[in-house]
Amino acid sequence: MNATSEYSAKRKVTLVQARADGAARLDPKGAPEERIVQACWSCQGPVGAGDPFCPSCQAVQPPGQADHFQRLSLPRGFGIDTAALEKSYFRMQRLLHPDRFATRTPKEKALSQQQATSLNDAYETLNDPLARAAYLAGLMGRDVLKEDGNAPVDPMILMEAMEMREALDEAETAEDLGAVTKHTQGEIADCESELSDAFAAEDLDRAVTLITRLKYLRKLADDTRARRAELRGRA
Ligand SMILES: [Zn+2]
Repeated sequence: MNATSEYSAKRKVTLVQARADGAARLDPKGAPEERIVQACWSCQGPVGAGDPFCPSCQAVQPPGQADHFQRLSLPRGFGIDTAALEKSYFRMQRLLHPDRFATRTPKEKALSQQQATSLNDAYETLNDPLARAAYLAGLMGRDVLKEDGNAPVDPMILMEAMEMREALDEAETAEDLGAVTKHTQGEIADCESELSDAFAAEDLDRAVTLITRLKYLRKLADDTRARRAELRGRA
């Protein structure tokens, strides 16, 4: 059994009828195994959306409309198994490696590159908690980027950001900055854990508020890092 057919065998896809409009299912409660099925361009056999290879003839497929979670064979949710994410990403990256397509047709080469691009996009989004949260909110019907700057920010978040900003401004030594970093990292971890709970409870309003808080915290962490570099440069 070669690596590709092994891949197909492992992937347990419940074949469902493709919707007439071909749109991906975006129901947050939709079981991850409920997938759009398309016909393989080569053998016309059924292929689950996001599956890089046809289970019948092993031909590489167009990236299609799978979401990032489907593409990496992960259940949809904020709290992801990062080890499973890495494993899935690197396995598919190997299967899509250009060396494997060196002797294939131009069409297959092009499709494998499109698959690799979609795979990288999915990985980068899911690997970053802030990007993952914004993406997941989008799948659940809230466009966080579009809301940015329009929605009023929770005063508690503004207060916290202001206080932490002051602590950063007042930090003069490496020790001070170390303390700010430690505090910020702790708040980021708390915020991510709360995000996980909010998404699990499907409390989108809470999730959107926490995404804003995480943005402030990440900006503060970046600025703290820059201040530390600046301080080291001066020493
Ligand atoms: Zn096929």
